[in-house]
Amino acid sequence: MRPENSCVKVGLRPPDDYNGVSFANGVLVACPYFMPSEKFADGAWIHPARLPLGGGWRGYCTAPGHEGELPSDEELHHACNLGYAAKCPRRPVDPSSDSVRFVVTRNSEQRVLLGYALEKDHVPCGHGTLEFDAAEDRWTTPHADERIQKMAECYLSSYMLRRNCAATVEPLEQP
Ligand code: SF4
Repeated sequence: MRPENSCVKVGLRPPDDYNGVSFANGVLVACPYFMPSEKFADGAWIHPARLPLGGGWRGYCTAPGHEGELPSDEELHHACNLGYAAKCPRRPVDPSSDSVRFVVTRNSEQRVLLGYALEKDHVPCGHGTLEFDAAEDRWTTPHADERIQKMAECYLSSYMLRRNCAATVEPLEQP
C-alpha cells in the first residue's frame, strides 16, 4: 500500500454532486454510524470512486439500539454510504454528528495524512488528521472511534488503489 509518488501534496476536493444529487454544503459524506465491512460493487453506483468512502461498501449499523443490524441494499445506496440519512429509522433523533468525510492532504513514500471532518446539520462539529505510515504499513495516528477509523481505512484503500493504477498506466505511443 505504498504511494507511487514521492512527497506529492494532494488536493482532492470531493465532487459537488453524486449521480445528479446535489448536497447543500457541496460535499459528499458518509453516515458516522456506518461500520463498513466489505466492498459493495453491484453496479448501481454510476461513479463509485466519487463516493465518500472511495467506493461502495456493505456493512452494519452502529446507531444506539440498532447495533449490528444489516441495512438493506437500498439503505446502503441512499443512506449509509451517503450520510445525512434524515429518513433513516435507525438514525438517532439527536445524533452527535450527521456525517463524516475524508480527504488525503499529504501523500509521500513515508506517510499519508488523511484529514477528516464531522458535521451536524451541515455545520462542522469535529475534525482532525490521521496518519498512516506507508513504509511500515500501519496507522501511527488512528482515530479513537473504531467506526471512523474503519471508514478511514476504506477511504485510503480505495484512494491508494486508484493512485497506484493511475501510476502504472502507460502513455499511448504517438504514431
Ligand atoms: S442504517 Fe441509518 S443510522 Fe445506520 S449506518 Fe445506515 S444510515 Fe446510518
